[in-house]
Amino acid sequence: MNIIVSACLLGINSKYDGGNNYTEKVESLAKEHTLIPVCPEQLGGLSTPRYPAEIIQSSSIILNSQGQDVTFNFKKGAEEALKIALLNNCKYAILKSKSPSCGYGFIYDGTFSNRLVIGNGVFAQLLIENGIKVYTEEDEFLL
Ligand code: SF4
Repeated sequence: MNIIVSACLLGINSKYDGGNNYTEKVESLAKEHTLIPVCPEQLGGLSTPRYPAEIIQSSSIILNSQGQDVTFNFKKGAEEALKIALLNNCKYAILKSKSPSCGYGFIYDGTFSNRLVIGNGVFAQLLIENGIKVYTEEDEFLL
């Protein structure tokens, strides 16, 4: 089965600080499945490293920690990453928890103070709207 995966979970240095979120539990799925890594923020034209960004709850725009509006990049990147998922007929995604792009269920609240609110990242939400089942690396995977 083809599964779309947040690139940083597979050890690719796509994270805002130039690092990754390698998770062995996710990589081990490659024994039985084809894992397709994507980073929607890079696909949206943002550099690595880059300033961290959060979804502003009152307006749904996305600002980075310098106050720059990166909403366009996040939306464009989510759409490009969705194309990759659809081209590969992915029915499942495993995404990085809490991220403003990839988070599912909970995301940071837009105040850059490590507080969480109920919600989905831009990419996770787009996948759900297109019928793709989303898990985070913290979940039990029912594939
Ligand atoms: S956008 Fe997603 S894949 Fe890219 S670094 Fe952030 S959490 Fe990882």
